[in-house]
Amino acid sequence: MSELRDLYQEVILDHNKRPRNFRRPEHPTHEARGDNPLCGDKVTVYLTIEDGVVKDVAFEGRGCAISTASASLMTEIVKGRRIEEARELFRRFHEMVTGTEPEGIDDEDLDKLQVLSGVREYPMRVKCATLSWHTLAAALEGVAAPVSTEKPGD
Ligand code: ZN
Repeated sequence: MSELRDLYQEVILDHNKRPRNFRRPEHPTHEARGDNPLCGDKVTVYLTIEDGVVKDVAFEGRGCAISTASASLMTEIVKGRRIEEARELFRRFHEMVTGTEPEGIDDEDLDKLQVLSGVREYPMRVKCATLSWHTLAAALEGVAAPVSTEKPGD
């Protein structure tokens, strides 16, 4: 089971078992729902944005270990970032897990996401790992309709 060895590292198992920021805030300013029908992952991301800064980020949902751990890691990394920084992190993370990142990652926080880079060998799992980030991006845009990993333009 090389997939298990590559993907289910200790950090991922820990975040799946005890997801960080797994709650529904009382008054989020932005929220979006995401759906990965291929795996059955569902996530709702809640943001509290003030003066262009993500003051709070939380999520709810259910899914596989990869999607839950990725969402948990995402909340830790995005909290306190400016909106444009959060978008840039998504772009870099997407490149990492799809294998198009040309250079090593020099961002200390993105470095934490390296535990998820093993998914690049498993296209199904890339969607699990990126679902919460796509949903974050939708929340940042204020998109009301649920996002799906099966819509074109992923
Ligand atoms: Zn999944």
